Amino acid sequence: DTVLSIENVTKVYGNGPAITEALKDVTLKVERGEWIAITGPSGHGKSTLLQLMGGLDHPTTGSVYLDNLDITCLSQSDLTSLRRYKIGFVFQFFNLLPHLSALENVQMALWLGGLSKNLISRGMDLLDQVGLANKAGNLPNALSGGQQQKVAIARALANNPEILLMDEPTGNLDSVSEADFLDLLQRLHSAGKTIVVVTHNQVVAGRAGRLVRVKDGKIEREEGHG
Ligand code: ADP
Ligand code: ADP
Repeated sequence: DTVLSIENVTKVYGNGPAITEALKDVTLKVERGEWIAITGPSGHGKSTLLQLMGGLDHPTTGSVYLDNLDITCLSQSDLTSLRRYKIGFVFQFFNLLPHLSALENVQMALWLGGLSKNLISRGMDLLDQVGLANKAGNLPNALSGGQQQKVAIARALANNPEILLMDEPTGNLDSVSEADFLDLLQRLHSAGKTIVVVTHNQVVAGRAGRLVRVKDGKIEREEGHG
């Protein structure tokens, strides 16, 4: 059962002599409940691939299917709402709103998703799920990297998306936070979430069920299934 599928996708940035062909005829099918790690050298197309999978950008050619719906022909507003309920993103630098507390960052996502009731208790539930309820009132800059990451994950989970897409989520974590993070991913995976994580981290990559290596805008090789 394929939940997300990239078919014969190319992505070209820029125009004229300054173009970059970031993806070259890439096909990747993600099964429901699968945990995939995407690895490969810097600048070779991993972030681009993740952004196209999440409908954050359009491919130059090819199609992206989410639950068998070709999302490349959707309007921006349809795409935005689809993203909101189907997909949670965790970005490399977490992109938390700096003037809002951990709880408020999560509440904001709930509110954007159309929920207006019980924002505090729902927000606290989400922070509790990631083990951060005790820091609910802290601003992001009063949290460690690992704690900020947890807020970002709680926020990504706000509208109960089926799919979690993460771009270098362990870039700035120490090994303790990393172990914590892996436990959390394991729990989310066991709870049925589909997880795609772009990572340079061998330990994180090693825990995924499938490893996809991207090189020079192409899928160079894949290892493992399940
Ligand atoms: P990776 O995630 O593997 O580091 P990226 O997908 O970020 O690779 O980038 C792939 C290539 O596309 C790089 O050469 C990068 O400079 C280029 N690129 C990525 N995003 C843009 C953009 N918005 N505009 C122009 N070039 C881009
Ligand atoms: P990564 O750490 O995954 O390699 P980068 O730091 O290269 O990602 O890029 C982060 C984001 O910045 C990319 O997802 C892309 O959208 C954008 N970007 C990357 N390279 C360029 C570029 N040459 N020009 C414009 N935007 C870029």
